[in-house]
Amino acid sequence: NLNDKRIDGKAVAAQLRQTIAAQVAERVAAGKARPGLAVVLVGEDAASQVYVRSKVRACEEAGIISRNYSLPVETTQEELLALIDSLNADPVIHGILVQLPLPPQIEVQAVIERIDPAKDVDGFHPYNLGRLAGKSPTLRPCTPYGCMRLLEAYGIDPVGKKAVVVGASNIVGRPVALELLMARATVTVCHSKTADLPAELAQADIVIAAVGIPAFIKGEWLKPGAVVIDVGINRLDDGRLVGDVEYESASEKASAITPVPGGVGPMTIACLLQNTLEACEAMEASAG
Ligand code: NDP
Repeated sequence: NLNDKRIDGKAVAAQLRQTIAAQVAERVAAGKARPGLAVVLVGEDAASQVYVRSKVRACEEAGIISRNYSLPVETTQEELLALIDSLNADPVIHGILVQLPLPPQIEVQAVIERIDPAKDVDGFHPYNLGRLAGKSPTLRPCTPYGCMRLLEAYGIDPVGKKAVVVGASNIVGRPVALELLMARATVTVCHSKTADLPAELAQADIVIAAVGIPAFIKGEWLKPGAVVIDVGINRLDDGRLVGDVEYESASEKASAITPVPGGVGPMTIACLLQNTLEACEAMEASAG
């Protein structure tokens, strides 16, 4: 039964969100601050608008304050940096998320580095990435964190396993490789210059796919029994959402596999809430 292999990210994320909601309620009942998240969107990218809406809704359901900033597409870098400065200084806000991609007049890295690392709930600031690389993570990138929590929820321990990450972006591939290394897997990171991807995948006990090409990874490339985590979210011309893995053929070979949608996507949002709660707690602790 192929359904037995399905890793249900939606269910794991719902459980995590429930736990977070309970922790938030407990904090507030104890007279502590309610966590607050600022979500900043520049322009009108359709996919980004969908992501921002679901992040805001998830906050509300967890009892986290969400403040939504929708800026026009012609916003200058100076204007965006000024908003970040004010959010950095705002005691009600514990997490700042700037939805990517940004319009071309704005330099992404400058924006990421302007966010106070203590409020960097996306985990993209070099401080937080450096902490992850140094095996003492602070705020961790949400999608990689979500992948690890999914593995954990299904009792899949990466220790000693061969993990192959396909994709080496700053937001998914690289940080997920650092997560797997911290979990003591033997990690290979593949990208567009990798000479023989099927040969790499044939070795992989755990595959993380983050390429951005629909149904790119074929079942025949997989090692029998592999665990497949598909990060890809690709919209086809007919409106359907598909992952980076060819689900039908891959689910024949895999021992466990995430669907798209309903796999990693919901975990990313749950981990954003988790990070906002953690940022709030850490700020409180450092304030004494
Ligand atoms: P990027 O486009 O930033 O990175 C893609 C990576 O794939 C690059 O490292 C690139 O290599 C590599 N790549 C491209 N073509 C090939 C190829 N033929 N063979 C091997 N590697 C290749 O994408 P992101 O990391 O931002 O996103 C990846 C996917 O994950 C997308 O579908 C995105 O929508 C989805 N996503 C999903 C999230 C979720 O919450 N589930 C969150 C974020 C992203 P090179 O480095 O050489 O260019």
